[in-house]
Amino acid sequence: MTGRTVIIVGGGWAGCAAALSAAMAGAETRLFEKTDMLLGAGLVGGIMRNNGRYTAAEEALRMGGGGELFQATDEVARHVDVKFPGHSHASLYDVAKVEPLVREHLTDAGVDIQTMRRIVGLTMNEDSLSALVDEDGDVILGDVFVDATGTSGPMGACVRHGNGCVMCIQRCPAFGGRVSITGRSGVRELMATKGPDLPGAMSGSGKLNRESLSPGLIRTLDESGVAIVPLPEELTQLEKLASKPCQQYALPEYADNIVLLDTGHVKLMTSYFPLDQLRTIEGFENARFEDPYAGGKGNSIRFTAIAPRNHVLQVNGRPNLFCAGEKAGVYVGHTEAIVTGMLAGHNAARYLRNRELLEMSTDTAIGELLARGCEALLTPEGLAESQTLAGSVLFERLRKKNLYTTDSSVIDERIERTGLWRKFSRPL
Ligand SMILES: Cc1cc2nc3c(=O)[nH]c(=O)nc-3n(C[C@H](O)[C@H](O)[C@H](O)COP(=O)(O)OP(=O)(O)OC[C@H]3O[C@@H](n4cnc5c(N)ncnc54)[C@H](O)[C@@H]3O)c2cc1C
Repeated sequence: MTGRTVIIVGGGWAGCAAALSAAMAGAETRLFEKTDMLLGAGLVGGIMRNNGRYTAAEEALRMGGGGELFQATDEVARHVDVKFPGHSHASLYDVAKVEPLVREHLTDAGVDIQTMRRIVGLTMNEDSLSALVDEDGDVILGDVFVDATGTSGPMGACVRHGNGCVMCIQRCPAFGGRVSITGRSGVRELMATKGPDLPGAMSGSGKLNRESLSPGLIRTLDESGVAIVPLPEELTQLEKLASKPCQQYALPEYADNIVLLDTGHVKLMTSYFPLDQLRTIEGFENARFEDPYAGGKGNSIRFTAIAPRNHVLQVNGRPNLFCAGEKAGVYVGHTEAIVTGMLAGHNAARYLRNRELLEMSTDTAIGELLARGCEALLTPEGLAESQTLAGSVLFERLRKKNLYTTDSSVIDERIERTGLWRKFSRPL
């Protein structure tokens, strides 16, 4: 192997973490993002550190590399130690402040960030990728590649499996739809299902414009970060819970109430809510959606294109292609994207140096996420299960294995014992 460059496609949380890890491991790193901003779905999320995500964030901070992105989200948190139904010790980052900060971190680490560069093709040398091609026909040479293109959209998927293009933060009509590097390389991708007639999954939350809500609701949100408004019986929404990817929020409390969280915009914890119905509720008389713009009608469809891969995040049959974030499993969440990105970027740099690829110990919450997420891809039942550290089956498993903790001395000892202390922040 003579090459030097790691190319990352997709600048969501997964791609940003992969880029930071690869650069910190000493690789020349280039990041290609089709829109004008980094962070993808992370531009409208905000919930961090809830349930098992707390443990994973603390583990990642001790490992270094992409894990340092958790410092950025902590730095712009509007609320910390928030409790809401089924969730403890959450922090809520400010969605308006986080992107420039992440961009600065990546630039400082030496990552060459290329926004408004949509990758649409590639060339191969036998089983390996040798170059990418962008929308303008420019050829980008590289040695190792990370597919962090996510699974949102493109518009066709939202039309086919959802309620149409709802004009979400991915902004496909303006910047072009998602193009999968794994798919373009000829690998057959996997699709998550929420039932025989429900391929993919509809995103589980939207954002309301703050100023459109009543002063009383805004005061509650400013004070505690959370507002819970009981729904009249005729507006409860049990049936919507089944189609959400965020199984950690598929609890009756989310069907019987409107749960709002303050992330800068006001996060509405349901896939969509018809505006005329929403406006009948006290405090929401003037409500309007901020993301997706058609949040009264539907939400983006995700998880229709997942890469089959191994435990070190190498795409099956493509030795120099790694994957991370939603691309690497039915992984729901920023934390899940960051920690898989960390490993993908680090292993891409290892591949470049002919070093043995790192498999994360399952004595860590992150290792458990990586291993279970990989196994789940092998069966239809697994593909019907969301993998998130914040709830559902994986969080249960963390509890059973005593991996879920908020005790920093336990996490210190765990990361020392597994040999992962600052592992991702040292040049190889
Ligand atoms: C509305 C919504 C709210 C959410 N809220 C939360 C939350 O509060 N907390 C939480 O933990 N999780 C939340 N999630 C889930 C979480 O945001 C995602 O699971 C995670 O951020 C996915 O990260 P990713 O990097 O894998 O993918 P994405 O964020 O989708 O990033 C993929 C990136 O790749 C780019 N791209 C695609 N194709 C190409 C190409 N060919 N060339 C160049 N660039 C390309 C896209 O433009 C995009 O920026 C939310 C998701 C949604 C949709």
